Amino acid sequence: MPPAGFANAQPGGADFPDSFLCETIGESTTVDLDPFPRDSSGAPVTSGSNSDRLRAVGTIVDELDEPPRGQVEHRVDQERIARAVREILLAIGENPDREGLRETPARVARMYGELFGGLHEDPRRHVQKFFTETCDEVVLVRDISFNSMCEHHLLPFMGKAHVAYLPRERVVGLSKLARVVESVARRPQVQERMTEQIADILVEELKAKGVAVVIEAVHTCMTIRGVRKPGSICVTSAMKGCFRNKSSTRAELMTLIYGDRR
Ligand code: ZN
Repeated sequence: MPPAGFANAQPGGADFPDSFLCETIGESTTVDLDPFPRDSSGAPVTSGSNSDRLRAVGTIVDELDEPPRGQVEHRVDQERIARAVREILLAIGENPDREGLRETPARVARMYGELFGGLHEDPRRHVQKFFTETCDEVVLVRDISFNSMCEHHLLPFMGKAHVAYLPRERVVGLSKLARVVESVARRPQVQERMTEQIADILVEELKAKGVAVVIEAVHTCMTIRGVRKPGSICVTSAMKGCFRNKSSTRAELMTLIYGDRR
């Protein structure tokens, strides 16, 4: 038996779909995540390196899944937010009619429409289109950057999510995992629940043998107010299936996530 292989994709910053990398770790073998990759015209990709193929998959997937611009924002009552923000400005003793603040209520309303837009979409939709493939390799997408809003203070928390699964038969494009993170993040959240939600969605939709989600984040409600501890990072994890039951699988995953940073 060859050692279990790991496909390790690391998105570079916010523009994750274009910059996925696929690398071989240690003695592991690299796995084709998508058995039916297609190029930008929709034609099947039959040659090229694995990373090219992964990139092709990520790109086409994103073109298909991009929601119409501004659609989700419209489901947030922006006029109501604007009125409330004007109230806040009055309440703190400001003059909302002075030049610098005149556009602020509407601007904040548009921003909240964006930041809370995830409330009005189902994050599951991103992983409901999958490929059927017998695959016995762990898939990890590391360093998915995200920002969310702490529901206790409505202050941002931001950081990185690492999402892994061991497929049973269902395999999805790598960018789908990042889409789920994004969707779950764009609502009033707590980090612990966000971590569990991502894991549960993948367990239920992919019927995977195992799912692991690790999130590291800085909470501005801890850094700019309250205990004021800049630099503190909150780490949460959700381990399901083989990642919970098999310490060796979990250990290998942690090495993949943190190995080169220790
Ligand atoms: Zn908070």
